[in-house]
Parts: sequence; structure tokens; C-alpha cells
Amino acid sequence: MDKKTSEKKDFALQSPKGMRDLIGDEWYAYQGFFEKAAEVAHYYGFKPIEMPALEREELFNRGVGEGTDIVEKEMYTLKTKGGDHLTMRPEGTAPVMRAYLEHGMQSLPQPVMLYYYGPFFRHDNPQKGRYREFYQFGLEILGTPKPITDATIINLFSTILKDAGLKKINVKINSIGDADCRGPYRRELSNYYKKHSKDICADCRERLKTNPLRLLDCKNPGCQEIKAGAPESVGFLCPACKQHFKEVMEYLEKMGIDYEIDSTLVRGLDYYSRTVFEIFSETEITNEDGTKTISNLALGGGGRYDYLAKSLGGKKDVPAVGGGLGVDRIVESPDFAYHAPRIVKKPKVFFIQLSFDAKLKTFEVIEVLRKNHVPMTHSMSKDSLSTQLGIAERMGVPYTIILGQKEALENTVIVRDMETRSQDTVKIDKLCEYLKKLK
Ligand code: AMP
Repeated sequence: MDKKTSEKKDFALQSPKGMRDLIGDEWYAYQGFFEKAAEVAHYYGFKPIEMPALEREELFNRGVGEGTDIVEKEMYTLKTKGGDHLTMRPEGTAPVMRAYLEHGMQSLPQPVMLYYYGPFFRHDNPQKGRYREFYQFGLEILGTPKPITDATIINLFSTILKDAGLKKINVKINSIGDADCRGPYRRELSNYYKKHSKDICADCRERLKTNPLRLLDCKNPGCQEIKAGAPESVGFLCPACKQHFKEVMEYLEKMGIDYEIDSTLVRGLDYYSRTVFEIFSETEITNEDGTKTISNLALGGGGRYDYLAKSLGGKKDVPAVGGGLGVDRIVESPDFAYHAPRIVKKPKVFFIQLSFDAKLKTFEVIEVLRKNHVPMTHSMSKDSLSTQLGIAERMGVPYTIILGQKEALENTVIVRDMETRSQDTVKIDKLCEYLKKLK
């Protein structure tokens, strides 16, 4: 094989950059988190939804908005053989609103409360806690402008994070106003930045033209001083938006949520109105040299998006609020508390099969165990009794079921108590009753 071909082969054996397999304990950790979070959402009256991984590109162009990093730089868009332009979903809110409008959910009792989880895709620079395929758990409440729903989303996200073991959860919150008050604020912000246009970075100069609110998202150290002096959106809120923001904060206080107003929080996406928020958790990180740093991890965010429905082509505005938690960062946090997923049961039985005849009876015995909800494990490729007993011993499994040539012919199995080493021969058709008596 020439060098070129062998390189090509190696490349084909690697998952794409920023995307990875979830295997074994890691898969269980994600699955356990999803199940627990879904359970919390269910208790609060949310219903599940699963959207397609691909949506029409137009959905995100209209919903997330031109001039945002997601639309301009990060979308995986492909042209199908039929000529459609489809995008691997970079976020869940626009797809949920699309589903709400497509299925006429306006005619259901309002609000409609939905949760979802799964992979999302952004062509970003991979680094620790940032992937090109990442997982989110999302909550959306559609069909109401009431401030209690903004607070419910924030409260539920913090409950889910607390249940997942995360500590010192804190929320940054801001209000960017509605169509009435955002215009004057945007103008004021643009005028302020225009005065400083020589001192800001090239990205900011571009934002000034395309999406001035995003100037406040800039992380460039050279722009921070100018950002600190920028006018604040809360100073421009109309009386209705002011009242809404006040009520959201009152609910948060009642719920005991630790929050602070961050006037630079605008969350670049076009669809937000009024409340925007981000959720953090403080954690102690051990560095490579053994020293420790306290880090405030961004674990989720969201906001109200009262104008999204119309910008997607809906006939009427649908007031709504929601957001997403970044599951990869939660699972990778040193504070993450593992919850076993429902399908993972500690095995009670190690099943040993010893001959070809025994292996033919294997499924009969496994079915008896499954129907009686007895979790079991086995090593199908091993033939020696002592090797398999050794594995069972090491795993600390309380019972083994042994099926050899003789047992296979007599339709029996041997059940061995691994602690007392006592053994019983049991007819396969009596195994169910026998298992019920075991502790
Ligand atoms: P966003 O949808 O950008 O508001 O993100 C919500 C949360 O998802 C963030 O706080 C992160 O925890 C997580 N997140 C966003 N982008 C990524 C990514 N590329 N990789 C891993 N997690 C991400």
C-alpha cells in the first residue's frame, strides 16, 4: 500500500474532528442524566418532543438570524440529491417553534410545554467543553407571555443541575426589551460604538453594521473597556417590559435562585426579546500542575422569543420562552453525580454455558431470566468453567447458572450460590419459580 492510501485509510478510521463516540460508562452517564432531567420536566408538566436532526436551512436563517455566528460560520448545511438545502440543527428553539406552528399546537390548551434532548451541531473550534457535535437538554414553554414561565424555565434548569450534583449554581439575567424599546436602545448603542469605532476590533466593526446588540458579546480584551461604558438595555425598557422583568426577578427571589443582572448579556441570536439568561456553576478545577482554580462554567442559557413565530412565517406572534443546557459540560464537571440509567441493572446472575448443546439452549434460559426481570451477564465466547466462574467471582455476582452438556440433555441448569458455594439442579421449566425464592 503506498503512503497516500494508508493515510487515507487511517483517516477513515477516525471520527470527524470535534465529534466522538460515547461508549460504556460515558454513555451511561449521558443516558442517566437525560432520564433524570426528563423525569424532572415530566413532574413540572412538560411533554417530550423529538425533532429531526436535519431541518431546512431557511428555518435557521430566518429564526436564528443573519449576522449571528451560528448562521454565518457554524452551520453544517448540505444540498440533498433532490436539491433541498438542509442544515444539521445547531439549536433546538427554532425547530420546536417550527413544530408548534406546523402541527397547529395553537389550538391546544396554552401554554404548550415541551422538553427534548439529543445531539446538536456547530462548526466551531473544538476545545475542552466545546464540540462540533454536542448534546443539549432543552425546555420550551410556548403560547404565554407570563413572567412566571420565564422563571419556571430558569428554576427547572437549576433544579436539574442541582440533581446532577452541580454546585453554586448562579444565573446571569438581563432584559433586552421588546419591539418598542429595543429600537431606541439599539440606536443609542450604535451611536456610542460609532464614536469608538477606531478603537474596537474588526469583528466589532462588522457587528456595528450587521447586528449592534452583538457588540456586547465581544470577548476581545481590547474591546472590554469600551463595552463596560456602553449604554445598558435595562435603562431603555418601556413600562410593560420593566414590569415583566421585575416580576421575573420576584419569582426568582421567591424560588431562592441566586441571580445577578448582567447588562452585557444579550445572547447574539435575533429571536430573543425581554428576558435573556445564562446559567453557571462554580467548580474547583485541578490544573495539570496540581494547582486548583475556581471556574464558573457556563452550563446553559436561553430567553424569551416572542417574535420568533412571525419571523419563521407564522401568521401571529406566539409569546414563548425556553433554552438549553449543555450536557457535555455537565457530565464532564468534576461535581457531576452519576445516576444509573433505568436499563442498567446490577447483574444478579452470571450465566455460564459450557458446550455446543448448552449454547443451543442459551436463549431459552436467557428468556426465563428476562421475563422474570432477573438482570444477568455472561461471556458468550468463553468455554472454560473455571475462567467463567473466575469472571463471576471478580464481578461479585451473587449467583451463577451453569448449563453444561449433561444439563442441556436433561433440560436442567445448576444454580450456584457464589457466597455459600452451594448448588442446586433445577429443571428449566421450574427455573422461574426457583428464581423467585432467591434473595
Ligand atoms: P447556547 O445554545 O449557545 O445558548 O448554549 C447553551 C449551552 O450549551 C452552553 O451554555 C453550553 O453549556 C452548551 N454548548 C453550546 N455550544 C456548545 C459546544 N459547541 N460544545 C459543547 N457545549 C456547547
